Amino acid sequence: MSSDAPPTPPEELSDDVTATLQELDEQGLRRAIIYAQELLQAADTAVTEIEPSPNEDILRTTDRDGYTEVVKQVRCADGCVDCPHGPYLYHVTRESRPEGGAHTHWKFIGRVHGEHE
Ligand SMILES: [Zn+2]
Repeated sequence: MSSDAPPTPPEELSDDVTATLQELDEQGLRRAIIYAQELLQAADTAVTEIEPSPNEDILRTTDRDGYTEVVKQVRCADGCVDCPHGPYLYHVTRESRPEGGAHTHWKFIGRVHGEHE
C-alpha cells in the first residue's frame, strides 16, 4: 500500500505541540481538533464584544442565561426636543456560524425606567 511520508508540521507550531500531536492516536487527534475549535470560538467571542455605536452609550450589560441584557442610551444631535431617548433595553444573543465565528443578534425589548448612571 502507500508509504506516504509523515506530513510536515507548520514551522510556527512549537516542537512541544508538534511532538504531543504526533503521539496521539486518531481519537486523540479528533479530541485535539475539537478542543482547538473551542479555543477558537472562545477567542471569537471576545472579538465580537458588545460595542456601542458612536451615538450611543452602553449604560449596563448583564450576563443572563443564554443572552446578555444591554441597556443603551441614545445620544441625539443638539436641538432634539424629545430627549432623553431611552435608555432602551436589548437582549443580545451570540449566534455561532457553522463556518466559524459568531455574530450578535440584538432584540429590542423596550424603554427602561429608573436606570441611573
Ligand atoms: Zn433626542
